[in-house]
Amino acid sequence: MFMIDAHIHADCRPYEDFEQMAVAGIESAVTLAHDPLPMSASAVVLDHFHHMLKNDRKRATENGVELYVALGVHPRSICPDVEVVLERLPALLQEEKVVALGEVGLETTSPEEQEIFKKQLQIAEDLKKKVVVHTPRTNKWEVTQKTLYIIEESINPKLVQLDHVDHSIIDLTREFGGQMGLTVQPLKVTPSEAVELLTEYGCDGFSLDSDMSSSPSDPLSVPKTVHQLKLGGFSDKDIKLVSKKNAARFYGI
Ligand SMILES: [Zn+2]
Repeated sequence: MFMIDAHIHADCRPYEDFEQMAVAGIESAVTLAHDPLPMSASAVVLDHFHHMLKNDRKRATENGVELYVALGVHPRSICPDVEVVLERLPALLQEEKVVALGEVGLETTSPEEQEIFKKQLQIAEDLKKKVVVHTPRTNKWEVTQKTLYIIEESINPKLVQLDHVDHSIIDLTREFGGQMGLTVQPLKVTPSEAVELLTEYGCDGFSLDSDMSSSPSDPLSVPKTVHQLKLGGFSDKDIKLVSKKNAARFYGI
């Protein structure tokens, strides 16, 4: 069965990971902008974007994984001259293989984070571009509540995927009207916890991702979760929805 990993950070991963993913049946993945370095200036952020578009796409493609890209200013990547990045963003979002704005959102809910998040949601709303929104590890419930409030005020929620959804915030996210990303990662949600969540809430509106980065991660999170879903008796239709179709529909890939 072919799968999509709906949220990765390809720039942090070795060449060999892409081969492993392809062998395990992952045909496509979406790599998102984040905070791989201290983003001291707009030039660093823009170099990060160009590296994703050029080098990472090439490394993945050479191993048989079609890599799509999301670009945006992560809340931990706000540089002093961030306005330069925001000015360039609308044009960059039109580049080939760029399927979304992301990942963006709130980490601490500081006024600066809120301002940059709102400005980027406005860009996405104007361009009718999809947005991938991060939720943090610390104060997750409170920050997610604020994040959803800003989304509701700023953008059609159908354009939004809220990521790193787990048991602690599912009460907030179930009714928000967009897609929910289930990040299966060591120290976050295990494959069997993902199965529990999907058993309880169904597969509609969920996509699976590894969020693989320089933190503890597993490039095979999605196939391992699919394996657990099969063992758990999920139908092929539901497995396909959560491991491919929902992500394909959201990103238009
Ligand atoms: Zn991420």
